[in-house]
Amino acid sequence: TTHRKKIIAGNWKMNGSLQANAALLQALAAGLQVAAPACAVIVAAPAVYLAQIQALVAGTPIALAAQDVSAHDAGAYTGEVSAAMLAEFGASHALAGHSERRQYHGETDAAVAAKAAAALAGGITPIVCVGETLQEREQGQTAAVVARQLAAVIDLLGARTRDIVVAYEPVWAIGTGRTATPEQAQQVHAALREQLQHADAQDVCILYGGSMNAANAAQLLAQPDIDGGLVGGASLKAQDFLQIVAAAR
Ligand code: PEP
Repeated sequence: TTHRKKIIAGNWKMNGSLQANAALLQALAAGLQVAAPACAVIVAAPAVYLAQIQALVAGTPIALAAQDVSAHDAGAYTGEVSAAMLAEFGASHALAGHSERRQYHGETDAAVAAKAAAALAGGITPIVCVGETLQEREQGQTAAVVARQLAAVIDLLGARTRDIVVAYEPVWAIGTGRTATPEQAQQVHAALREQLQHADAQDVCILYGGSMNAANAAQLLAQPDIDGGLVGGASLKAQDFLQIVAAAR
């Protein structure tokens, strides 16, 4: 009994090829035609494939996301891709601050917030990723870490916070096959919801990510504050991803 429409977003990470993308999207589109999704369905693809995928998803319910977005509008930022550029190629969303970007590319809370702001300014909905490491969880810092990560975004965006999507992705659950229990996830989602509520953004969708699969999705998605999933590995297999989509209603 929520008015928040669920979202299932696949994060392909640095995977794919022209041939593999076409095969995967054709299988997804076919599956979604047989069983129309009750949720929004998004795929986050490497930026170079956006043009290909824009054409392939036309006329399907599949929306397109980038995996990253520049904090800058334009200029001397070699290698970066702006929100306006992503929008030109059909992206409606972009991940911001995925843990792999924070970990391997040194993205700070402030940098992630700047990316979220630039995305919104360029007409792209940022999917802001937050989550604690295993060490932080074991030290009892989970609530403080995710609150700090989200606060950086709320502080910069202010009233525009209501236009973002949040993804809670415990780092220890990403790509490990070790998923958070529905109770563990719900606890963090409820805290994030409360923080969003204070920013007058209680209707923001909060996705769970971290080894979500066809077997565990339904239980996670049944939690009151889990509004969808951000799916890595299982998003590369059409049947698995379709089963997760079917579990979101
Ligand atoms: C992710 O990349 O955001 C993710 C959650 O990956 P996985 O589902 O493979 O854990």
